[in-house]
Amino acid sequence: MNVVWLRRDFRLSNNPALYYACKNKDAQVLALYCLSIKQWSTHQVGDNQQSLILKQAIEFRKELKKLNIPLLIVKADFAQTPRTLDSVLKKLECRELFFNMEYPLDERIRDRRVVENVKHRVKVHRFATDSILPPWEIVNNSGEGYKVFTPFSKAVKFRLRDKPMFIYPQPGKLCRGNFTKGIAEIESFKFDEKLEVIDKLPLVQPTAREMPEVNCHQAKRRLENFCEMRLKSYQDTRDFPFLNSTSGVSTALAIGSISAGECYLTAEESANELASKWLTELVWRDFYRSVIWHFPDICKYKAFNHVDEKIQWNQSGEELDKFYRGETGIPIIDAAIRQLVDTGWMHNRLRMVVASYFTKNLWADWRLGHEFFAKHLFDYDFASNIGGWQWCSSVGTDAAPYFRVFNPQSQQAKFDPNAKFIKQWLPSLSHYSDKQIHAFDKQELDNYSICNVDLKESRKLSIEKFKLAKARAF
Ligand SMILES: Cc1cc2nc3c(=O)[nH]c(=O)nc-3n(C[C@H](O)[C@H](O)[C@H](O)COP(=O)(O)OP(=O)(O)OC[C@H]3O[C@@H](n4cnc5c(N)ncnc54)[C@H](O)[C@@H]3O)c2cc1C
Repeated sequence: MNVVWLRRDFRLSNNPALYYACKNKDAQVLALYCLSIKQWSTHQVGDNQQSLILKQAIEFRKELKKLNIPLLIVKADFAQTPRTLDSVLKKLECRELFFNMEYPLDERIRDRRVVENVKHRVKVHRFATDSILPPWEIVNNSGEGYKVFTPFSKAVKFRLRDKPMFIYPQPGKLCRGNFTKGIAEIESFKFDEKLEVIDKLPLVQPTAREMPEVNCHQAKRRLENFCEMRLKSYQDTRDFPFLNSTSGVSTALAIGSISAGECYLTAEESANELASKWLTELVWRDFYRSVIWHFPDICKYKAFNHVDEKIQWNQSGEELDKFYRGETGIPIIDAAIRQLVDTGWMHNRLRMVVASYFTKNLWADWRLGHEFFAKHLFDYDFASNIGGWQWCSSVGTDAAPYFRVFNPQSQQAKFDPNAKFIKQWLPSLSHYSDKQIHAFDKQELDNYSICNVDLKESRKLSIEKFKLAKARAF
């Protein structure tokens, strides 16, 4: 019996754990998923992403059934997982365990404990496909993880030219699960008194209006559609939030219904040099994975740059509450927050503008911003989110310089010149001209909040405070 331990990798294609578990045509294969709702709360995963993962688990169970592979779902938080896995593997007389690695610290500790616990009984096979290349393979000349993006990106691209990627095919094409016990029988199997096998998944309601369609087939179609229709113009159009110009694959990547390797290869094959900008963006995802792998203290919500320890960030206040409600009186910020709350996604340009305003104009703690995004984003990804927030607040690896403070007013005039995006999310402003909307600080807009934050003054103050903190840190 081979057991595939699933995590954020509900996909058939480029899933080496599933591929190798099924490779031996005579082996019986069982998939196992440990549901850790408690862990999700500790890790700040919001209702949107929780509901999406649960939906994908159900859909993937159907996919696996077609291959004659039962998916057993058991309840176990990270601390219980070693014991739970041991119990299941023992009962099933499993010989080999297969799983794809996850890189954040708690996940690494959990996996180490599981392996310690079961290695006397089963052969364990681990794979790395949560990034284009495994983070430990991309290191500088001293064997350390990169702290700066450009050399990291060059090293990744150089490696890929040198050694092309292999995409593991769907297991169905090679062999079948061959489970003689019968799927219904194994799904309702009672392993031991303390083990909670789940037949019906708990229902978590999303807070967004709609759930994205991201099972492994939909994710693949989305990627192919993007490569065919929008990839070639991505470089010129990617920064405008009123256009549907980006790929929208982040949610599928976050829950693992598509792999970064497959995204990279598909885009490269479909557009060559014109895919370059998009490929670089995808490499940012690998970069932040590499950062948490090589500098795991970041997983404890510590900033990469120690200046952070000398900064007294704001933890609460009226302006912060207005931010969370999307009532700052700055149209582009409020529209972005409405997009986030309503759809569970926010355009990348706006994530940067919003995070800069939050940390540099409101001087609010980037950890709170990270938490707010995690609560709403369907594509919440620990490494990218913490990386993005530390970048914007100038306390991360290769972060924006502290004196770079986005001006939301010029950002909105530049990236939403006709106020199309703003009017979509703030319909009460639809009768104003774009000029009036961009001059929100000079006149009152009816039925709209007044901005009480002096953008110029708060920018100046932020730079001064940061300078002071830097001086105290060294
Ligand atoms: C403050 C902040 C928080 C963020 N939080 C997250 C998060 O929780 N989850 C998440 O997936 N991305 C996050 N990002 C990165 C980026 O905004 C999203 O990946 C992107 O908007 C997703 O849309 P897309 O798939 O259409 O992207 P595309 O523009 O089509 O890019 C393709 C892929 O490249 C990767 N990518 C692009 N930009 C970045 C980036 N700056 N950092 C890391 N990967 C990137 C993503 O996997 C993305 O799906 C954050 C950025 C900032 C500034």
